[in-house]
Amino acid sequence: MEQEPAFERVGNDRFLWKHLWLLDGHQVRCRYCEVEQPLEHSHLPFCHEADCPARTPSDQYPWRDLIDVLTLPYRH
Ligand SMILES: [Zn+2]
Repeated sequence: MEQEPAFERVGNDRFLWKHLWLLDGHQVRCRYCEVEQPLEHSHLPFCHEADCPARTPSDQYPWRDLIDVLTLPYRH
């Protein structure tokens, strides 16, 4: 059985979110490639640098994930 990539769980885990992203005012910044995405682009997939290790095969929506981790029940 294929191993689930660690980053797949980021959207549901408030601890993993902050290891990937940094919240800076109205920007979310990738901790690895330091690309930023403004809040008004929250509906668009995040665009990392081409060689960023935080990239995943599926699209990433850090703002949406942040809302998820803030509103999900505490699971730990
Ligand atoms: Zn990145």
